Amino acid sequence: MTDPHPTADPATLTARARDLDDADPLGAFVDEFVPSGEVVSYLDGNSLGRPLRALPDLVTAFIEKDWGSGLIRSWDAGWMQRPVALGDRLGRIALGATAGQVFIGDSTTVLLYKAVRAAVAARPERTEIVIDDDNFPTDRYIVEGIAAETGRTVRWIHADPASGVTADQVREAVNDQTAAVLLSHVAYRSGWVADVPGITDIIHSAGAIAIWDLCHSAGVIPTELDAWDVDLAVGCTYKYLNGGPGSPAFGYVRTELQSRLQQPIQGWMGTADVFEMGPSYRPALGIRRFVSGTPAIFAMLAMDAMLDLIERAGIDAVYAKSIRLTDFAEQSLGVHVLPHGARLESPQRGAHRGSHLTVAHPAFRDLTPVLWEQGVIPDFRAPDGIRIGLSPLSTTFAEVDEGIRILAEELARAAAAQK
Ligand SMILES: *Cc1c(COP(=O)(O)O)cnc(C)c1O
Repeated sequence: MTDPHPTADPATLTARARDLDDADPLGAFVDEFVPSGEVVSYLDGNSLGRPLRALPDLVTAFIEKDWGSGLIRSWDAGWMQRPVALGDRLGRIALGATAGQVFIGDSTTVLLYKAVRAAVAARPERTEIVIDDDNFPTDRYIVEGIAAETGRTVRWIHADPASGVTADQVREAVNDQTAAVLLSHVAYRSGWVADVPGITDIIHSAGAIAIWDLCHSAGVIPTELDAWDVDLAVGCTYKYLNGGPGSPAFGYVRTELQSRLQQPIQGWMGTADVFEMGPSYRPALGIRRFVSGTPAIFAMLAMDAMLDLIERAGIDAVYAKSIRLTDFAEQSLGVHVLPHGARLESPQRGAHRGSHLTVAHPAFRDLTPVLWEQGVIPDFRAPDGIRIGLSPLSTTFAEVDEGIRILAEELARAAAAQK
């Protein structure tokens, strides 16, 4: 598609933002979120999604009914099944996973540990774990720790920080010594979208287990975990799934693998008959065995409510708006920010891009708190990147326009003060 506004000036861009909001089929969803006070432009929905207006009532009902009068009986009336029931729902609405393969568990970090550790144990004769050096810190640290714990070696793929891991790089990195490969579907800094089905195929050809981190795609970019033949996946629920700070992560384990994997944190909640309290651990059949301790029931309320919205909008429509938002942001950065010497450190428009963009400039570290003070809230990513995350159901084009214009003004001011 050719761009109808190839050399837009600032006024045209602002008018265009208004047109895009007017024509936005998902525009009304913005009203479903709690108004964010003095915030002018929230550009970090990929780090912490905004709360839903419906939440206070849901929380009150939960406290009074399920918890308050149901009390311990609520474990039998649904809480025990909740990690798997909500996992099924998430799988159906956003992940392309049929029932019995997704669960809500511990934090992302802990679930990554469980996934990688179980995969390595399932390939006892193999000596290497593969990951890229631009993956999110916790992913890298977990893999380093498991390698040290199990006497394996980490094989690092060197990823271009402005794009991401390619199929060719994975093909070069895997061999008959590879136990498992851990990669991110969407790179947390650049927004690069990895070729999950293609790379998973390459990993399988080497006889290794493919583990995907979906933190920056779950709830915004549809995945087809079953069709793509993914082995294991882990993802956040407080980013595009708006579960709230520290809401528990989800895990996916392909049905055929479930009985062949032994997860390392074998707690009572993953056993075949929890209240038998038997003398030794007997894992439940199915996905339940990947649960460890008492599930965080209270912390699942917000993500469940967000799934209502995503279901109503349709994940494909959410993704379509994500593309429109990132395209607009790229154009706006091109008009307002890049002329001041900033660089786009994300893939250009097209299929290889998630729902966020990173733009870099040496002044950005000092500029970020100045922007926050003015109600423009992006994320700073060391050493000099500002990350603009666009959560489709809660973000308007007008606020993207406004936020980027203020960013440009502050950057111009900082540059002038340097002289
Ligand atoms: C946000 C994020 C995490 C966060 O892990 P927590 O255990 O929730 O702190 C992990 N990996 C990636 C790729 C992320 O984007």
